Amino acid sequence: MSSRTVVISGASIAGPALAFWLHRRGMRPVVVERAPQLRPGGQTVDIRGAGETVARLMGIEDAIRAGSTGEEGLRFLDTAERTKAVFPSSVFSGKGFVTELEILRGELSALLYERTRDHAEYVFGDEISGVTEDGERLRLTFTSGAEREADLLVAADGIRSRTRDLIFGDSTRIRSRGLYTAYFTIPRHPSDGSWARWYNFPGGKTAMLRPDNLGTTRALMSFLSPPYGYDRLHQEEQKELIRHTFAGEGGPVPRMLREMRDCGDFYLEGVAQVHMPQWWRGRVAAVGDAAYCASPLSGMGTNLALVGAYILAGELATHDDHHHAFTAYENAMRPYVTQAQDLPPGTPRLAMPRTQLGIKALHTVLRTASTPLAGRVMRRFLVPAAYDFVLPAYPTR
Ligand SMILES: Cc1cc2nc3c(=O)[nH]c(=O)nc-3n(C[C@H](O)[C@H](O)[C@H](O)COP(=O)(O)OP(=O)(O)OC[C@H]3O[C@@H](n4cnc5c(N)ncnc54)[C@H](O)[C@@H]3O)c2cc1C
Repeated sequence: MSSRTVVISGASIAGPALAFWLHRRGMRPVVVERAPQLRPGGQTVDIRGAGETVARLMGIEDAIRAGSTGEEGLRFLDTAERTKAVFPSSVFSGKGFVTELEILRGELSALLYERTRDHAEYVFGDEISGVTEDGERLRLTFTSGAEREADLLVAADGIRSRTRDLIFGDSTRIRSRGLYTAYFTIPRHPSDGSWARWYNFPGGKTAMLRPDNLGTTRALMSFLSPPYGYDRLHQEEQKELIRHTFAGEGGPVPRMLREMRDCGDFYLEGVAQVHMPQWWRGRVAAVGDAAYCASPLSGMGTNLALVGAYILAGELATHDDHHHAFTAYENAMRPYVTQAQDLPPGTPRLAMPRTQLGIKALHTVLRTASTPLAGRVMRRFLVPAAYDFVLPAYPTR
């Protein structure tokens, strides 16, 4: 039973991490990625708590540290570039917004791919278009026309997972968190330094600049909005939406809008969470954002992907019956996911006031929170809750 073939849909974080653990536990992983090659984009992701332990068990903790963006912390500024609050990365014992272990998503994905490419089969530029189960095996068809058999299938293809939707239909709920964020990379200016910088604008808008370790600067522009489907617009329409939304704002905005025009990796997303009543059906399970996206607001997405992959592979190695394995995976993982998805009350509205007066009040609160005593009280708002999760141990082979 341990030589099961497991097809995994998606090669970002959850997919390659699962391939790593399946191989380690004696199974045969096949990873199918829709993009023609590994996707390089994305901004900084944080590795925390149990995610850090999994990274250590995988032997990649030092490589993550070596590839760290090295941000010194986060500064809140007004549009006249006056600092309003400062949170060094060491504050909250390195567990706050900027953690001591953080890396660009594309770099982490490449690292996981490098560690698994010799032990897993990777298929790029294809996706699963149909799944049938004949009792003992799964029969998969692909958009390329290819066909394959597998013992199990795992959807690791992100928040809009097509593989998940093929199997679970509309039982999945994608819950909007009431904002959109545009991500893109811009040339580094000498003034960008080594701190992340956060700016608020009236109307519930924020801009962030985060220097990376590759000599560029990562830009984020967010605005509060109900889910209007902006993520389905063409890229030029999305850029126009950002230009229109931020028109006339000061601080770094004119530069950001200018440099957004020619950036190579613009991406706009409606920030949301995924809630599934059950993470498996028959011979198919889901992991990472596909099953339980907690949204970038949680600071937990990559940790859930790493930990979910570790537990799913561990349970599959422990149980001959995949129903028992999937049930044990869900039982072990659910409390961690529930905690990670439980965002502090008022997220994200409290951090994105609609008025100038509200922005002033936010700066006052943040300045107070950055002092050691008040920081303890504000911890619930500034440190993700899911730090207490105890990782199950699985026998090594
Ligand atoms: C390009 C990119 C940029 C990102 N940038 C950020 C960021 O800046 N900040 C942040 O917090 N999070 C970002 N994320 C999300 C972050 O990676 C996840 O929240 C977290 O790491 C969990 O990862 P995941 O592997 O479960 O899902 P994801 O990282 O979303 O990966 C899903 C993978 O599945 C692939 N895929 C999609 N559909 C199919 C299909 N039908 N068949 C096969 N493959 C498919 C995608 O191309 C992708 O490689 C980004 C993700 C991607 C793909």
